[in-house]
Parts: sequence; structure tokens; C-alpha cells
Amino acid sequence: MEIAASVKEASKEYKTGDTVITALQPTTFDFMKKELTLIIGPSGSGKTTLLSLLGCVIFPTTGEVYINNILANSLSEKELARLRLNNIGFVFQSFNLLAPLNAIENVMQPLRLSGISKKEAKLKAEKALAKVNMESRAKSLPKNLSGGQQQRVAIARALVTDPSMMLCDEPTASLDIRSVSIVMEELKMLSDSGKAVFRKTPRCRPSSPSSPGRSGRSSA
Ligand code: ADP
Ligand code: MG
Repeated sequence: MEIAASVKEASKEYKTGDTVITALQPTTFDFMKKELTLIIGPSGSGKTTLLSLLGCVIFPTTGEVYINNILANSLSEKELARLRLNNIGFVFQSFNLLAPLNAIENVMQPLRLSGISKKEAKLKAEKALAKVNMESRAKSLPKNLSGGQQQRVAIARALVTDPSMMLCDEPTASLDIRSVSIVMEELKMLSDSGKAVFRKTPRCRPSSPSSPGRSGRSSA
């Protein structure tokens, strides 16, 4: 199985005045394509920090982060922006859809930002919406969609650029139980179709502070 991303002894510390906060202790792990990886641990254990390292949103204090075998630490801001746009899709707990834009316009947005024509962006966005069974709601504004439907639009937006991995930070935390299972099914389907999907979950299991719980693997 292919590796989508790796962290090697990657840690993150924040310094404020004399205090050093360890957000993530040195962590080594390979994230595989075609797998749905769950990152589990109590609040404050470093799950969001680990996702942010994988999303190349922050740099590690020590250690290395590789995305598709590229050492992320060594890239310039511009190269990182390109790596993020081409390889990584983000899904957040709070959906983060743009309120004045309808569903398809939201999904088209990352493509428009990367300079793809309106016509081509629309075609790709329609396909992405169909993957999450939301094509019939393409013209709906976010406020007229349920939480579960908004999250499915957000998933379509994350996958429209065909990223090799999807980072999901508590994607089901704001959803009702029925929507949780639909969204989880869809994330599982995406990992089966070849994407590496990392889903963060707040469910507590005994785990030392500042070290995320072992990532559970659900193979495709
Ligand atoms: P989780 O997502 O598991 O709840 P986080 O990764 O958000 O945990 O945070 C891990 C620890 O690092 C927490 O103690 C948090 O307060 C701290 N932390 C996270 N980001 C920062 C930051 N930018 N500055 C200072 N401390 C931070
Ligand atoms: Mg968090």
C-alpha cells in the first residue's frame, strides 16, 4: 500500500514568554492511501496540531513531515501553497461554506482560485456534488441546507481538486446521528476509492496528555 503522508519524530512547541507549551510530542506515523485513519485522543492531546502539520498549515518544531514523499519543511511559502492546493482537502467541524454562495458556487471556489475556467469548474463541481448525492441541491444556499447536507457540500468542495488526502477535523461533531452515518459512509467510500482520509474525533480513550491516541486503521 502507498504512503500518502508521514510524520517522522515530528513535534510542535509554542513559546510564550518563559513558558513552553508542548502541543505535540515527537510522533512517527505513516498515513496510507486507501485508508481511513482515525486520530483519537482527549481534548488538548495534539490532534488538531497533528492535522495542521499534515495539512502544512504549521511547521514542526523538530522532526519531518512528508506529503507524497516531498519534505514539506523544506518548501517555500509559494511551493507549500501549491502542495496544499493540489494534494490536500480540508473538511472542518463548522462546514465553513460561504453564506452568499450557493452549493455549486461553493464547490467551484477552489478551482476558480487556481485559475480554472468557469465552465470547467462548473463541470467538475457538478461531478463532486454527485459523489456526495447533493447534485439536486446545487442551487441551494447553505442556510437552506441541513447540517448534514452542508457538510456533504463541504466534502464535495474538499474533493473537487482531486487531492490525494482529505483532512477532516471533527467533521461529524455538529451533526445529528443520521447525518453522522451518511457523512462517515461517504468518507469511507472516498478512502476506498483511493484517497487517504484522516478524520479527527474527540471521543476519549485513556491516553497520555500531549500525545494523540494511537490512530485506528480501517483498511479498504
Ligand atoms: P486537540 O485538537 O487534541 O484538542 P490541540 O492540537 O488543539 O489539541 O492542542 C494541543 C495543545 O497545544 C493544547 O494544550 C493547546 O492549548 C496547545 N496549543 C495548540 N495551539 C497552540 C498555539 N497556537 N499556541 C499555544 N498553544 C497551543
Ligand atoms: Mg482540536
